[in-house]
Amino acid sequence: MKHAMLDILVCPMDRHSPLEIHVCSESGGEVVEGALYCTECSRFYPIIEKIPILLPDDLRDARLDADFVARNRGTLPSKITDKP
Ligand SMILES: [Zn+2]
Repeated sequence: MKHAMLDILVCPMDRHSPLEIHVCSESGGEVVEGALYCTECSRFYPIIEKIPILLPDDLRDARLDADFVARNRGTLPSKITDKP
């Protein structure tokens, strides 16, 4: 995901923008893995293999979220990793 995309991304639950970005790994100026965080509703959205996955709650994949957090526990802030 290119950083410039932040300008057009909004939280799918409340349309809040801009989202906070937390980069776990980067390559060639693109975020490969990271998280987008909504300061309005405290949800995070994963960026996996350069793709931001902004889905509302009823379409989220709980196992994908859990795997993502486990994999990036060392580089994500606790407000993301410590969510129930
Ligand atoms: Zn939100």
